[in-house]
Amino acid sequence: MKVSERVALVTGGSRGIGKAIVVALASAGAKVAFVYQSNKDAADQLVAELTGKGHEVYAIQADASKKPEADAAIENVVAKWGRLDILVNNAGIIRDKLILAMTSEEWQQVIDTNLTSVFNFCQAAIRPMMGNRYGRIVNMSSVAADFSNPGQANYAASKAGIEGFSRCLATEYAKRGITVNCVAPGFIETDMTMAVVNAAGDKIKNSIPVKRLGRPEDISNAVMFLASEESSYITGQVLKVDGGLTLGGMS
Ligand code: NAP
Repeated sequence: MKVSERVALVTGGSRGIGKAIVVALASAGAKVAFVYQSNKDAADQLVAELTGKGHEVYAIQADASKKPEADAAIENVVAKWGRLDILVNNAGIIRDKLILAMTSEEWQQVIDTNLTSVFNFCQAAIRPMMGNRYGRIVNMSSVAADFSNPGQANYAASKAGIEGFSRCLATEYAKRGITVNCVAPGFIETDMTMAVVNAAGDKIKNSIPVKRLGRPEDISNAVMFLASEESSYITGQVLKVDGGLTLGGMS
Protein backbone atom coordinates (compact mmCIF):
# COMPACT_ATOMS: atom_id res chain seq x y z
CA MET A 1 0.00 0.00 0.00
CA LYS A 2 1.48 3.32 -1.05
CA VAL A 3 2.05 5.79 1.79
CA SER A 4 5.76 6.45 1.41
CA GLU A 5 6.76 10.12 1.30
CA ARG A 6 3.29 10.96 2.65
CA VAL A 7 2.88 13.07 5.79
CA ALA A 8 0.60 11.64 8.47
CA LEU A 9 -0.85 12.70 11.82
CA VAL A 10 -2.30 10.12 14.23
CA THR A 11 -4.17 11.13 17.39
CA GLY A 12 -3.76 8.85 20.40
CA GLY A 13 -0.63 7.40 18.83
CA SER A 14 1.37 6.62 21.95
CA ARG A 15 -0.29 3.36 22.99
CA GLY A 16 -2.52 0.51 21.84
CA ILE A 17 -4.12 0.73 18.41
CA GLY A 18 -2.72 4.20 17.67
CA LYS A 19 0.81 3.01 18.35
CA ALA A 20 0.39 0.13 15.88
CA ILE A 21 -0.84 2.64 13.27
CA VAL A 22 2.15 4.93 13.86
CA VAL A 23 4.55 1.98 13.55
CA ALA A 24 2.87 0.73 10.35
CA LEU A 25 2.85 4.15 8.66
CA ALA A 26 6.45 4.91 9.61
CA SER A 27 7.65 1.44 8.57
CA ALA A 28 6.00 1.98 5.18
CA GLY A 29 7.97 5.20 4.67
CA ALA A 30 5.53 7.92 5.77
CA LYS A 31 6.60 10.85 7.94
CA VAL A 32 4.49 10.55 11.07
CA ALA A 33 3.52 12.94 13.85
CA PHE A 34 1.36 11.63 16.64
CA VAL A 35 -0.64 13.23 19.42
CA TYR A 36 -0.77 11.92 22.98
CA GLN A 37 -2.37 13.45 26.03
CA SER A 38 -0.49 12.62 29.22
CA ASN A 39 1.71 9.52 28.96
CA LYS A 40 4.96 11.25 27.94
CA ASP A 41 7.12 8.20 28.71
CA ALA A 42 5.18 6.00 26.27
CA ALA A 43 5.34 8.73 23.61
CA ASP A 44 9.09 9.33 24.08
CA GLN A 45 9.80 5.61 23.98
CA LEU A 46 7.94 5.19 20.68
CA VAL A 47 9.71 8.17 19.10
CA ALA A 48 13.09 6.81 20.22
CA GLU A 49 12.27 3.32 18.91
CA LEU A 50 11.23 4.57 15.46
CA THR A 51 13.80 7.34 14.98
CA GLY A 52 16.42 4.76 16.01
CA LYS A 53 15.37 2.78 12.94
CA GLY A 54 15.77 5.84 10.72
CA HIS A 55 12.08 6.79 10.49
CA GLU A 56 10.85 10.40 10.67
CA VAL A 57 8.53 10.50 13.67
CA TYR A 58 7.76 13.00 16.41
CA ALA A 59 5.22 13.40 19.22
CA ILE A 60 2.95 16.34 20.05
CA GLN A 61 1.36 16.70 23.48
CA ALA A 62 -2.22 17.97 23.12
CA ASP A 63 -5.73 17.42 24.39
CA ALA A 64 -7.54 16.37 21.21
CA SER A 65 -10.87 17.56 22.60
CA LYS A 66 -9.66 21.18 22.64
CA LYS A 67 -9.99 23.01 19.33
CA PRO A 68 -7.02 25.41 19.77
CA GLU A 69 -4.75 22.46 20.62
CA ALA A 70 -5.91 20.52 17.54
CA ASP A 71 -5.37 23.60 15.34
CA ALA A 72 -1.87 24.05 16.78
CA ALA A 73 -0.99 20.37 16.20
CA ILE A 74 -1.98 20.50 12.52
CA GLU A 75 -0.16 23.84 12.06
CA ASN A 76 2.92 22.31 13.66
CA VAL A 77 2.98 19.41 11.19
CA VAL A 78 2.37 21.62 8.14
CA ALA A 79 5.09 24.05 9.30
CA LYS A 80 7.55 21.18 9.75
CA TRP A 81 6.84 19.07 6.67
CA GLY A 82 4.95 21.47 4.38
CA ARG A 83 1.82 19.35 3.93
CA LEU A 84 -0.59 16.89 5.51
CA ASP A 85 -1.78 13.86 3.52
CA ILE A 86 -3.11 11.40 6.09
CA LEU A 87 -5.09 12.04 9.28
CA VAL A 88 -6.03 9.19 11.60
CA ASN A 89 -8.40 10.23 14.39
CA ASN A 90 -7.83 7.45 16.89
CA ALA A 91 -7.79 9.08 20.36
CA GLY A 92 -10.56 7.72 22.52
CA ILE A 93 -11.64 6.86 26.06
CA ILE A 94 -14.36 4.91 27.85
CA ARG A 95 -16.23 5.92 31.01
CA ASP A 96 -18.75 3.07 31.22
CA LYS A 97 -21.76 3.45 33.55
CA LEU A 98 -25.46 2.66 33.40
CA ILE A 99 -27.41 5.81 32.52
CA LEU A 100 -28.77 6.44 36.03
CA ALA A 101 -25.23 6.34 37.45
CA MET A 102 -23.56 8.32 34.66
CA THR A 103 -22.61 11.87 35.57
CA SER A 104 -22.89 14.75 33.11
CA GLU A 105 -19.08 15.00 33.27
CA GLU A 106 -18.69 11.34 32.24
CA TRP A 107 -21.10 11.89 29.35
CA GLN A 108 -19.38 15.07 28.19
CA GLN A 109 -15.81 13.82 28.60
CA VAL A 110 -16.46 10.86 26.31
CA ILE A 111 -18.33 12.94 23.72
CA ASP A 112 -15.60 15.62 23.74
CA THR A 113 -12.64 13.23 23.59
CA ASN A 114 -14.06 10.77 21.08
CA LEU A 115 -16.34 12.86 18.85
CA THR A 116 -15.50 16.56 19.18
CA SER A 117 -11.83 15.72 18.70
CA VAL A 118 -12.70 14.27 15.29
CA PHE A 119 -14.43 17.52 14.27
CA ASN A 120 -11.48 19.52 15.65
CA PHE A 121 -8.79 17.67 13.71
CA CYS A 122 -10.79 17.17 10.51
CA GLN A 123 -11.67 20.85 10.27
CA ALA A 124 -8.05 21.87 10.78
CA ALA A 125 -6.76 19.25 8.31
CA ILE A 126 -9.15 19.90 5.42
CA ARG A 127 -7.55 23.19 4.32
CA PRO A 128 -3.98 21.87 3.83
CA MET A 129 -5.39 18.72 2.20
CA MET A 130 -7.56 20.77 -0.19
CA GLY A 131 -4.51 22.78 -1.20
CA ASN A 132 -2.86 19.56 -2.44
CA ARG A 133 -6.11 18.03 -3.74
CA TYR A 134 -5.22 14.89 -1.76
CA GLY A 135 -6.21 13.53 1.62
CA ARG A 136 -6.94 10.33 3.48
CA ILE A 137 -8.90 10.65 6.71
CA VAL A 138 -9.53 7.54 8.80
CA ASN A 139 -11.69 7.90 11.90
CA MET A 140 -11.71 5.25 14.62
CA SER A 141 -15.23 4.10 15.38
CA SER A 142 -16.18 0.89 17.20
CA VAL A 143 -18.63 -1.97 16.81
CA ALA A 144 -20.27 -0.23 19.80
CA ALA A 145 -21.70 2.30 17.32
CA ASP A 146 -24.40 -0.19 16.39
CA PHE A 147 -24.01 -2.91 19.00
CA SER A 148 -26.05 -2.47 22.18
CA ASN A 149 -23.80 -2.69 25.24
CA PRO A 150 -25.40 -1.71 28.57
CA GLY A 151 -23.24 0.93 30.26
CA GLN A 152 -21.85 2.35 27.02
CA ALA A 153 -24.46 4.96 26.03
CA ASN A 154 -21.90 7.78 26.03
CA TYR A 155 -19.34 5.71 24.10
CA ALA A 156 -21.89 4.32 21.60
CA ALA A 157 -23.27 7.83 20.98
CA SER A 158 -19.76 9.17 20.35
CA LYS A 159 -18.90 6.37 17.91
CA ALA A 160 -22.24 6.51 16.04
CA GLY A 161 -21.64 10.28 15.83
CA ILE A 162 -18.23 9.70 14.26
CA GLU A 163 -19.77 7.50 11.56
CA GLY A 164 -22.48 10.05 10.67
CA PHE A 165 -19.98 12.89 10.71
CA SER A 166 -17.60 10.94 8.46
CA ARG A 167 -20.27 10.24 5.83
CA CYS A 168 -21.13 13.97 5.61
CA LEU A 169 -17.48 15.01 5.42
CA ALA A 170 -16.88 12.39 2.72
CA THR A 171 -19.53 13.95 0.46
CA GLU A 172 -18.32 17.50 1.12
CA TYR A 173 -14.72 16.89 -0.03
CA ALA A 174 -14.80 13.91 -2.39
CA LYS A 175 -14.24 16.10 -5.44
CA ARG A 176 -11.09 17.53 -3.83
CA GLY A 177 -9.39 14.14 -3.69
CA ILE A 178 -10.05 13.69 0.02
CA THR A 179 -11.54 10.40 1.25
CA VAL A 180 -13.06 9.94 4.71
CA ASN A 181 -13.66 6.47 6.11
CA CYS A 182 -14.09 4.75 9.47
CA VAL A 183 -12.64 1.59 10.93
CA ALA A 184 -14.80 -0.09 13.58
CA PRO A 185 -12.81 -2.50 15.74
CA GLY A 186 -14.31 -5.27 17.84
CA PHE A 187 -12.45 -6.44 20.99
CA ILE A 188 -8.77 -5.52 20.64
CA GLU A 189 -6.12 -6.28 23.27
CA THR A 190 -5.11 -2.87 24.62
CA ASP A 191 -5.06 -1.00 27.95
CA MET A 192 -8.64 0.15 27.21
CA THR A 193 -10.12 -3.36 27.21
CA MET A 194 -7.82 -5.09 29.69
CA ALA A 195 -10.19 -4.81 32.69
CA VAL A 196 -13.25 -6.06 30.76
CA VAL A 197 -11.34 -8.89 29.13
CA ASN A 198 -9.75 -10.03 32.40
CA ALA A 199 -13.12 -10.01 34.16
CA ALA A 200 -14.89 -11.94 31.38
CA GLY A 201 -12.27 -14.70 31.02
CA ASP A 202 -12.80 -16.80 27.87
CA LYS A 203 -16.41 -15.65 27.42
CA ILE A 204 -15.49 -12.84 25.01
CA LYS A 205 -13.06 -14.97 23.02
CA ASN A 206 -15.64 -17.73 22.64
CA SER A 207 -18.26 -15.29 21.32
CA ILE A 208 -15.97 -14.22 18.46
CA PRO A 209 -16.23 -16.45 15.35
CA VAL A 210 -12.44 -16.41 14.75
CA LYS A 211 -11.94 -17.42 18.44
CA ARG A 212 -9.40 -14.84 19.42
CA LEU A 213 -9.27 -11.22 20.52
CA GLY A 214 -8.01 -8.74 17.96
CA ARG A 215 -4.47 -7.38 18.03
CA PRO A 216 -3.65 -3.70 17.44
CA GLU A 217 -1.98 -4.81 14.17
CA ASP A 218 -5.30 -6.22 12.91
CA ILE A 219 -6.61 -2.65 13.04
CA SER A 220 -3.49 -0.96 11.67
CA ASN A 221 -3.61 -3.30 8.64
CA ALA A 222 -7.10 -2.02 7.79
CA VAL A 223 -6.13 1.60 8.46
CA MET A 224 -3.10 1.26 6.18
CA PHE A 225 -5.34 0.31 3.26
CA LEU A 226 -7.74 3.21 3.82
CA ALA A 227 -4.77 5.58 4.29
CA SER A 228 -3.10 4.47 1.07
CA GLU A 229 -3.24 5.85 -2.47
CA GLU A 230 -4.89 2.60 -3.62
CA SER A 231 -8.12 3.26 -1.68
CA SER A 232 -9.04 6.37 -3.71
CA TYR A 233 -12.46 5.03 -4.82
CA ILE A 234 -13.66 4.24 -1.28
CA THR A 235 -15.19 7.02 0.79
CA GLY A 236 -17.83 7.40 3.52
CA GLN A 237 -17.56 3.75 4.51
CA VAL A 238 -17.24 1.88 7.80
CA LEU A 239 -14.96 -1.16 7.81
CA LYS A 240 -15.65 -3.51 10.72
CA VAL A 241 -12.55 -5.36 11.92
CA ASP A 242 -14.02 -7.63 14.57
CA GLY A 243 -13.28 -11.29 13.78
CA GLY A 244 -16.94 -11.71 12.85
CA LEU A 245 -18.24 -10.58 16.28
CA THR A 246 -21.15 -8.60 14.82
CA LEU A 247 -22.29 -11.19 12.28
CA GLY A 248 -24.83 -12.49 14.74
CA GLY A 249 -24.46 -16.15 13.80
CA MET A 250 -24.33 -19.12 16.19
CA SER A 251 -20.59 -19.57 16.63
P1 NAP B 1 -5.76 3.08 24.65
O1 NAP B 1 -4.83 1.92 24.63
O2 NAP B 1 -6.44 3.45 25.92
O3 NAP B 1 -4.96 4.37 24.06
C1 NAP B 1 -5.65 5.58 23.96
C2 NAP B 1 -4.78 6.60 23.27
O4 NAP B 1 -5.54 7.83 23.14
C3 NAP B 1 -3.52 6.98 24.05
O5 NAP B 1 -2.50 7.27 23.13
C4 NAP B 1 -3.95 8.25 24.80
O6 NAP B 1 -2.86 9.12 25.14
C5 NAP B 1 -4.82 8.91 23.75
N1 NAP B 1 -5.78 9.88 24.28
C6 NAP B 1 -6.79 9.66 25.14
N2 NAP B 1 -7.45 10.83 25.38
C7 NAP B 1 -6.82 11.78 24.64
C8 NAP B 1 -7.01 13.18 24.47
N3 NAP B 1 -7.97 13.85 25.10
N4 NAP B 1 -6.17 13.84 23.64
C9 NAP B 1 -5.16 13.20 23.00
N5 NAP B 1 -4.93 11.88 23.13
C10 NAP B 1 -5.75 11.19 23.95
O7 NAP B 1 -6.94 2.89 23.57
P2 NAP B 1 -7.10 1.84 22.35
O8 NAP B 1 -7.74 0.63 22.88
O9 NAP B 1 -5.83 1.76 21.61
O10 NAP B 1 -8.20 2.60 21.49
C11 NAP B 1 -7.87 3.45 20.41
C12 NAP B 1 -9.15 3.81 19.67
O11 NAP B 1 -9.80 2.61 19.21
C13 NAP B 1 -10.19 4.55 20.52
O12 NAP B 1 -10.85 5.52 19.74
C14 NAP B 1 -11.16 3.45 20.90
O13 NAP B 1 -12.45 3.95 21.19
C15 NAP B 1 -11.13 2.60 19.64
N6 NAP B 1 -11.56 1.22 19.87
C16 NAP B 1 -10.84 0.39 20.68
C17 NAP B 1 -11.29 -0.92 20.87
C18 NAP B 1 -10.54 -1.90 21.71
O14 NAP B 1 -11.03 -3.04 21.88
N7 NAP B 1 -9.38 -1.56 22.26
C19 NAP B 1 -12.47 -1.35 20.26
C20 NAP B 1 -13.17 -0.47 19.45
C21 NAP B 1 -12.71 0.81 19.26
P3 NAP B 1 -2.01 8.91 26.53
O15 NAP B 1 -1.11 7.74 26.30
O16 NAP B 1 -1.26 10.16 26.73
O17 NAP B 1 -3.01 8.65 27.61
